[in-house]
Amino acid sequence: ILLGIAILFMGVAIYISYYMSKKAMIPISKTFARQKEFVADASHELRTPLSVMLSSINAMEMTAEFKEEDYSHKLLVNMKNEVKRMAGLVGDLLTIARSDLENLELVNETFDFCPLASKTIDSLKTLAGSKQINLNFHAPEALIVRGDSQRFTQLLYILVENAIKYTPNGGEVLLALITGDKELIVEVRDTGIGIEPKDQQRIFDRFYRTDKSRTRQIGGHGLGLSIAKWIVDSYKGTIRVSSEVGKGSIFTIRFPMQKGYE
Ligand code: ADP
Repeated sequence: ILLGIAILFMGVAIYISYYMSKKAMIPISKTFARQKEFVADASHELRTPLSVMLSSINAMEMTAEFKEEDYSHKLLVNMKNEVKRMAGLVGDLLTIARSDLENLELVNETFDFCPLASKTIDSLKTLAGSKQINLNFHAPEALIVRGDSQRFTQLLYILVENAIKYTPNGGEVLLALITGDKELIVEVRDTGIGIEPKDQQRIFDRFYRTDKSRTRQIGGHGLGLSIAKWIVDSYKGTIRVSSEVGKGSIFTIRFPMQKGYE
């Protein structure tokens, strides 16, 4: 009888703990999903006031009669830089939150990758020029692909901007598009500060920044590469980094190409 009672108790205990854990799991996953939705909604809502602020600052800059050396002018420039930085962060958070919720739709269009990459390079020329960095671009005549051109632009922008950011003055940055055997290879090389082996996997994690980039106070918030990885994963590609501290880094992305879009 005692053994029977013990088994009964054990059975009841196992059932209760199973029931409790199941019950506990539901609210946790729901809360988590709600948090993600909140981040997505909040970042979406924040975009409008930020862009209004930015255009107001721009208008103020054009209409107010400031001299370069005026304290008010300096404050305005500071404000503009910080608003821009915040708008960048909010945009990144929105992409991350939406990709988590899997409601970020990728457009499926056919386009030539070469002019798109060339435009990205053009938009980063000023940044490279401000550091006397030689920005090079190699690509075939044309490269017709299928995918979301906006996301591909974002991917190139993240990698090339990083290459410029983490390369000291006077260095070299190269973006190369290469067509391999049934694959498209995107390579971004720099002669920058490099990445230690222990960091080479972690830089793709959200909010991860190496000690070097933090101590040198190079601006950023550690979301770019996680967005880049999400875009690459969406197209079943791979992203790898090979790097040597003090010499530079090479980021290599490989996308499988479908027949008919080569
Ligand atoms: P952010 O640049 O905004 O900090 P990212 O996610 O784009 O965020 O990059 C994560 C970290 O990886 C950076 O903070 C930096 O430490 C390192 N990193 C990225 N690209 C390079 C590069 N080309 N050279 C050296 N370090 C890099």
